[in-house]
Amino acid sequence: MATDTVNIKITRVEESRISTVDFNNLPFGKFFSDHMFEMDFVDGEWQAPTIVPFANLSLHPATSAIHYGQSIFEGLKAQKGEDGEILVFRPDMNAKRFNESAVRMSMAPVPEEIFLEGLRALLDLDKDWVSSNEGQSLYIRPFMFATDDYVGIRPSERYKFLIITSPVGAYYSEPVPVKIETKYTRAAAGGVGRAKAAGNYAASLYPAKLAAEEGYRQLIWTDAKTHKYIEEAGTMNVVFVINDVVITPSEANDTILKGITKKSVLQIAKEWGYKVEERDVTVEEIIEALKNKTLQDAFGAGTAATIAHISLIGYEGVNYELPKIEDRELSNRIKDHITDYKKGRVEDKYNWLMRI
Ligand SMILES: *Cc1c(COP(=O)(O)O)cnc(C)c1O
Repeated sequence: MATDTVNIKITRVEESRISTVDFNNLPFGKFFSDHMFEMDFVDGEWQAPTIVPFANLSLHPATSAIHYGQSIFEGLKAQKGEDGEILVFRPDMNAKRFNESAVRMSMAPVPEEIFLEGLRALLDLDKDWVSSNEGQSLYIRPFMFATDDYVGIRPSERYKFLIITSPVGAYYSEPVPVKIETKYTRAAAGGVGRAKAAGNYAASLYPAKLAAEEGYRQLIWTDAKTHKYIEEAGTMNVVFVINDVVITPSEANDTILKGITKKSVLQIAKEWGYKVEERDVTVEEIIEALKNKTLQDAFGAGTAATIAHISLIGYEGVNYELPKIEDRELSNRIKDHITDYKKGRVEDKYNWLMRI
């Protein structure tokens, strides 16, 4: 298929696997659509973009990503609109962020137009995999890793970029009990916390497991140096409402992942007349607000769940209950609004939707 600017060679599957998938029972990230986008960076440039049948990769045992972790990813979703159109929420932001991650990890940036045109062509081909059932979507996972077959430590000279997609149901539908983590850290100033780098997620698994043993579903990360400042909630950005003010940790801090969902939430909240503060958020002010009942709302914001209500916050062995979910104004309203926005059910006034 030839697009205006990117020439993508397409090899189609002989027979779709879609009939083997039970769309009434979709565990997250277990099933994959028929095709994948694939492209290699060799000899200093990205070569021949292709779409091929979804298949295993064959890798040299010395593939450098496996040894030294030059590996980054993105996550976004495609929805089916009311009239059958495929809608993708702000993919240009993912393309940009992907390249910010690439730069931080000394990897080869992917031209944004190839990222976006590759995505468009892939979704066009696999559009039947975008379910129109309520709550379901096609999760899109672009990723890149270093492919030099060399066990020496240096930036790889070769990379592989792929986009795979997976039909999914609703994620985190239940409100989540979280623990404010004061021992382990996700990111340190000057580190790679702002990048969607594979190793960041590996590092979070052990502390998350320990918290799960205490009954918490997620961690609220604090700063690496003092543990006095709130950073993120698991793999989502975290937003609080205290005394009618929307408060979230500032992205000026390079330990915070620049979330697209959070950015969208803040923009809409401002338009709805909320006062919004992006600044340092202390653990102390959150605990204070929980104690004196001025904390009205707390939620995680991220592509997977859109909005995940926080049901309870644990800190230093004490569990603090939050207001009843149905009494929370911003998170409920914004969740519905962004869900409708992604489905094309409200006017696309910010031009956030890519349509296929
Ligand atoms: C991906 C991610 C987010 C959320 O970003 P979105 O663009 O909203 O999906 C937040 N925090 C971390 C650590 C993440 O990896």
